[in-house]
Amino acid sequence: ADAFDEECDYLFKAVLIGDSGVGKTNLISRFAKDEFRLDSKPTIGVEFGYKNIKVRDKLIKAQIWDTAGQERFRAITSSYYRGALGAMLVYDITRRTTFINIEKWLYELREFGNEDMVIILVANKSDLSQSRQVEKEEGKGFAEKESLCFMETSALHNLNVEDAFLEMITKIHDIIS
Ligand code: GDP
Repeated sequence: ADAFDEECDYLFKAVLIGDSGVGKTNLISRFAKDEFRLDSKPTIGVEFGYKNIKVRDKLIKAQIWDTAGQERFRAITSSYYRGALGAMLVYDITRRTTFINIEKWLYELREFGNEDMVIILVANKSDLSQSRQVEKEEGKGFAEKESLCFMETSALHNLNVEDAFLEMITKIHDIIS
């Protein structure tokens, strides 16, 4: 641990899940920018990065986990979810199947995840509106029904990415403090 770690008030783990190709890796690298440090845990086949942020005067180190492509084999195990306080459930607005599969991901999350985990539904690739297959209202409606937060993002154009992460992290902070 470096000196900065010791000055942190909290360390949060959050995970990203969703079908392959929806933009999970790009969302993480966009959010973390130059602070992104990709580590990996080959034993369980995941990658994660860190970002230090200030929320309500507290210094928080967010450890964000990426599936590193494991979702293609439906090989995400319970260790991926263990200890996570937040989850970003991501679909691609241009591929309807990725939205339909959100139900399966949510089921898995509720089976393996923490009970009071903060979950945010993220509709990514909002820049591709000409190929949109899932209306914003539909995503929003699903999120409301399941009591999730909702945000449309574009990792490519850097739209709402920071806001989505900050909303999740702030909510986690408010729950545990
Ligand atoms: P992952 O498999 O969920 O981690 O998805 P990736 O982050 O690897 O992204 C899959 C593909 O979608 C890549 O070709 C990205 O460049 C592209 N992509 C990711 N986010 C966006 C976005 O917001 N808009 C557009 N147009 N493309 C995106």
